[in-house]
Amino acid sequence: MTDTVTNGYDVIIVGAGPAGLCAAMYAGRGMLRALTIERGAPGGELLNTDLIEDYIGFESIKGWELAQKMTEHAKKFGAELATDTVERIRKADDGWFEVATARGRLYRAPAVILTAGGTPVKLGVPGEKEHAGKGVSYCAVCDGAFFKGEVLAVVGGGDAAVEEADYLTRYASKVYIVHRRDRFRASRILQERAFANPKIEVVWNKQVLEIKGTERGTDHLVLEDTVTGERSTLQIGGVFIFIGFKPNTGLVEGHVKHDAGGYLVTDERMMTSMPGLFAAGDVRSQLTRQITTAVGDATTAAIAVEKYLAATREKEKAGVAS
Ligand SMILES: Cc1cc2nc3c(=O)[nH]c(=O)nc-3n(C[C@H](O)[C@H](O)[C@H](O)COP(=O)(O)OP(=O)(O)OC[C@H]3O[C@@H](n4cnc5c(N)ncnc54)[C@H](O)[C@@H]3O)c2cc1C
Repeated sequence: MTDTVTNGYDVIIVGAGPAGLCAAMYAGRGMLRALTIERGAPGGELLNTDLIEDYIGFESIKGWELAQKMTEHAKKFGAELATDTVERIRKADDGWFEVATARGRLYRAPAVILTAGGTPVKLGVPGEKEHAGKGVSYCAVCDGAFFKGEVLAVVGGGDAAVEEADYLTRYASKVYIVHRRDRFRASRILQERAFANPKIEVVWNKQVLEIKGTERGTDHLVLEDTVTGERSTLQIGGVFIFIGFKPNTGLVEGHVKHDAGGYLVTDERMMTSMPGLFAAGDVRSQLTRQITTAVGDATTAAIAVEKYLAATREKEKAGVAS
């Protein structure tokens, strides 16, 4: 039940991952009254990442450390963070957004930046959680370079799995694509490229039952044949799981343009098809999802919000004057 209504903000930022924290910092520097609502600790996926080696300016930094630095930096410029879970975002009849939270708050503001990220779909097998970041990965661009000369497995059969398997062969000595069916869903051109790559071997009709390893990393997969039920093992130095990614976009009520994967489509200002609703980072439809792209989007979004609010207020004034 909503018991407190707060009207005093220019913009509500939903999520405090890299995109949300960066938007909060720029909003603070732009003298916007901004509130960032985060359901957990600030940092987003950085908190699930052991080592980051591709964030320019930091040759190597722990995920939690970068999260801490980003949070401190945003706060230094006046970011206000609230710990709460956003349950619903809707545009009211007066054109303002209403952001309702699990703690019964209703924040009203003329603009919202949605930076709620998304979650890689998990296999849900024993060993996956235990070895996450230590042999189990969901991002080839982020983690591929940690596996030079290793034998890797990629799990999945869609575009992401087949394309990333090909990408991983630049580091790995061999890449097995483990797929539970006898054909891929991936586009033909990606399949042809993978089949032509001598470092790739496809393991058809197998599902992963367990990921085995030690504290130092993964050692082998326990597989089951989806046709015969026969069990086998596959020795690997790491496993990359690409069975889907769910953007957290379901919070918005009403139709907002999105792509086939559910990612929000924006214009070059990061504004969605709903005027005043901006999206940045992993929720947004784009070519790649990295920390650098998330903070780039967020920079544009925060600056665009400033301009959007100024233009809206100008229009309102002109409307009142006429
Ligand atoms: C395991 C892993 C390793 C990675 N390694 C790298 C790497 O090395 N280099 C790199 O560049 N990229 C890496 N990435 C990708 C990178 O982490 C993401 O692209 C980046 O974090 C996206 O930032 P974001 O702010 O858009 O989303 P997120 O980081 O996902 O942050 C979203 C935030 O929103 C919050 N949130 C969601 N829903 C709600 C709600 N309803 N109410 C309140 N808060 C909410 C979440 O709790 C979260 O804190 C990795 C990703 C993963 C999964």
